[in-house]
Amino acid sequence: MEKLNVPYYTRRAHAKKKALTAYLKKLVRKKPAGMYAITQEARTETWKKIDCTSCGNCCNSMTPTWTKSEIKRVAAHMGMTYDEYYEKYLYTDDNGDIMNDNTPCQHYNTDTRLCTIYELRPKDCAEFPHFHRKDFFDQVEDVFAPNMPRCPATLVWVEKIQELSQTKLKIK
Ligand code: SF4
Ligand code: SF4
Repeated sequence: MEKLNVPYYTRRAHAKKKALTAYLKKLVRKKPAGMYAITQEARTETWKKIDCTSCGNCCNSMTPTWTKSEIKRVAAHMGMTYDEYYEKYLYTDDNGDIMNDNTPCQHYNTDTRLCTIYELRPKDCAEFPHFHRKDFFDQVEDVFAPNMPRCPATLVWVEKIQELSQTKLKIK
């Protein structure tokens, strides 16, 4: 698989974000049957094109949401207590979500572009960019639309969803 040109995808996402977001919102309004199959076909096509190991934007510039048990698990792995780990790396936002204090993530190796706690990483990381979700329509506004400029895979996935919805569901 070709190495990703991340700046190119970021520029492409900014250029297309308005139109793609409008299309996603149209899908949310219409809620067509068969949407999950479309998202999963688009998912398969996306992972044929995108190699995350040549990107790493999510680990480099975004934060996962941590659960307490995940903090406990990773802190123990690092030889730290829960409180030590929390104080050093995390904070709680206004919604009560526990997030990383800084970017890149403390477990991201910027040379190898790999996660150093891959097997122990939070569920939020393991599930990102959330293409498997069955509540696609509920995730458009807060997750998929804003993630297009940050995540090349999300951009390619949304583009594919548009193409498939236009041809298979006749939503223009
Ligand atoms: S825990 Fe690993 S996968 Fe999650 S953001 Fe940090 S480096 Fe990335
Ligand atoms: S999930 Fe998206 S942002 Fe993260 S490495 Fe893959 S393409 Fe890049």
